Amino acid sequence: MNRHGFDDPVQYLKGVGPQRAARLKRAGIESVVDLLYYFPKRYEDRRTPTAVSQMAQGQTVWVRGRVLGGSFQRPRKGLSVTKLALESQSGVVYATWFNQPHVHRQLTPGKEVVVVGRCDRRFRSVEIAVSEHELVGQGRLLSAARIVPIYALTEGLNQKTIRSLTDHALSVYLDQIVEFLPPDVLNRYVLPRIRTALREMHYPSSLEDAAVARRRFVCEECLLFQLALAKMRTSGQQDKPFTHGTDGNRISALIRSLPFTLTPSQRQVWSEISQDMQRSRPMRRLLQGDVGSGKTIIALLALVKATEAGLQGALMAPTEVLAEQHYTKAKQVLNSLDLRVELLLGGQTPRERTRILENLLSGNAELVIGTHALIQDSVQFASLGLVVIDEQHRFGVRQRMVLQDKGLAVDSLVMTATPIPRTLALTLYGDLDVSVIDELPPGRYPVNTHFVYPARLPKVYEFVGREVAAGRQAYIVCPLVEESEQLENESATTLYEQLRVGPFRAIRLGLLHGRMPGDEKNRVITAFRHGAIDVLVSTTVVEVGVDVPNATVMMVMDAERFGLAQLHQLRGRVGRGATQSWCILVGQPGTEEARQRLETITSTNDGFKLAETDLRLRGPGEFLGTRQAGLPGFKVTDLINDWEYMEQMRREAIGILEHDPDLCERDHQPLTAKLEPLIIKLSS
Ligand code: ADP
Ligand code: MG
Repeated sequence: MNRHGFDDPVQYLKGVGPQRAARLKRAGIESVVDLLYYFPKRYEDRRTPTAVSQMAQGQTVWVRGRVLGGSFQRPRKGLSVTKLALESQSGVVYATWFNQPHVHRQLTPGKEVVVVGRCDRRFRSVEIAVSEHELVGQGRLLSAARIVPIYALTEGLNQKTIRSLTDHALSVYLDQIVEFLPPDVLNRYVLPRIRTALREMHYPSSLEDAAVARRRFVCEECLLFQLALAKMRTSGQQDKPFTHGTDGNRISALIRSLPFTLTPSQRQVWSEISQDMQRSRPMRRLLQGDVGSGKTIIALLALVKATEAGLQGALMAPTEVLAEQHYTKAKQVLNSLDLRVELLLGGQTPRERTRILENLLSGNAELVIGTHALIQDSVQFASLGLVVIDEQHRFGVRQRMVLQDKGLAVDSLVMTATPIPRTLALTLYGDLDVSVIDELPPGRYPVNTHFVYPARLPKVYEFVGREVAAGRQAYIVCPLVEESEQLENESATTLYEQLRVGPFRAIRLGLLHGRMPGDEKNRVITAFRHGAIDVLVSTTVVEVGVDVPNATVMMVMDAERFGLAQLHQLRGRVGRGATQSWCILVGQPGTEEARQRLETITSTNDGFKLAETDLRLRGPGEFLGTRQAGLPGFKVTDLINDWEYMEQMRREAIGILEHDPDLCERDHQPLTAKLEPLIIKLSS
């Protein structure tokens, strides 16, 4: 058996039999350490008893007194009432219990007791409806005469039980618990040692001490997490079997051929990426940039740089529409460079597919752009050197890994326009380096966003008509139907039919939805891009990435059904040219939350601000959606408010591993045991 006992099963504690152990297990408590890390969700300051004369109606009070006598009654079937008179220092009070018949047997006259409960003043007497009581003289008081921990309860466990268990565990095990955080970290952040921190977390001497103890556990959690991420980032990582030189002719030719100059921000991130690629350690980089900030060209630069070293590059996008757009754009810009680019999608003919796969395997094609189709087993490369994942929040981490594993120690660049608040970026992408494009290309107007009720639709259609007459284009996005893509497509089709014979009779109208065959989709989006369609009625397939600068209106139907991040993405489809653009949200918010969402989106264009709000409104789980599942449960860390600690501990973790990559130094040895289970959890 482990001499230190910290990992002892909870049954080793006095008072825990099989039944209680089962209940504790349901609350996630299996060992003593689990119990000690089962922290209170809040505290109540019960340091001083309430004087009887001060007790106010409805207030929660506590008092310590001697039982004078009392009564036990069963006024009707299923109800028993115990009422005891207690003599306290500040006068007599009456305490009542409902349906707890054992109480009057336990609390016989002369016994001293503490009661906590809601106060009911009747005439001159005071009655307390007891929620907790505790006999005095049986060890230290846990439910009163102190700052009292309030734990989250699960079935079959009450406050009293958990308190007596944590108190007992502290008294038996505390001396055996060994500090494992490095002294440097403890000192630098003035954190209490583990024994003090555990004690103060459960039974704090003051609320300030509880806060200090909490800070220790936040730092502990963040440090372990960041160490685990950093270890994952570097473990099993081979150096690249190839080398990149500094940017060559192809890169400079590409930059020269662009119809615009790169923004300072784009130049900055490009130099970060380019330098990353030149290192022998494979690049693991996240490129963040708000919608329309110009990430695509950066991806193309990276892909071209890979070819300069004689390697192949792959770009994966979440939708066919986007993959095709990237392919078209890549062909345009790479035209003069004499590079061979392929497009790989799901629905291609077997012949076409075979041709593409052969070209990739033989090295005939230098670049490939595609959808999820790229991660199939049959896709193999002659010499893959770089993978780029666009709109990475639409993919899981595993999909990135699968694509990456098609080469040896390949560089990887993941891009996202969903601005992820700092804390979450550090949490989710702690294993990635981050570059940010923090400005839009010059000459852009901020999109004007309005919310209107459906009654105003005729006016909105008129407005769209005027924009079209002025040579602009518009999107109309139809209700999101989470449950069924089929229904979503039908609603788009229905609206399209209505508009075609109604308000947009005289306008070139197009329809786009997910179930259309690939080449049909392509035909429609190409026509829209070339201005052969004025107004595109679409499902959310245009949500990400689509880039048609001449479009100036984004209309969203039933806007209340969309999340903030989605609305922001949709809005990002316009405002890409040099004229004023509009985003018109049509809807009927049915809930307060929906109303807040629409108000937020109309009040700001700042994606980061929106993401923060979104995170606050929905919490991290919902915000990230199911695809990003795999965040470890943080017991104390609040991912929204504790980002500074996350950042500090990230730096600490990197510093520790830089000097001591295998955690061999004496101060670091104890960390290894803590890290192993965490790494397993994170990489599964
Ligand atoms: P996103 O970051 O949303 O993927 P895109 O890469 O689609 O943005 O770029 C949006 C639009 O801005 C495209 O039409 C692109 O050609 C254009 N663009 C990119 N960089 C610049 C720049 N430096 N100056 C002007 N326009 C640019
Ligand atoms: Mg994009």
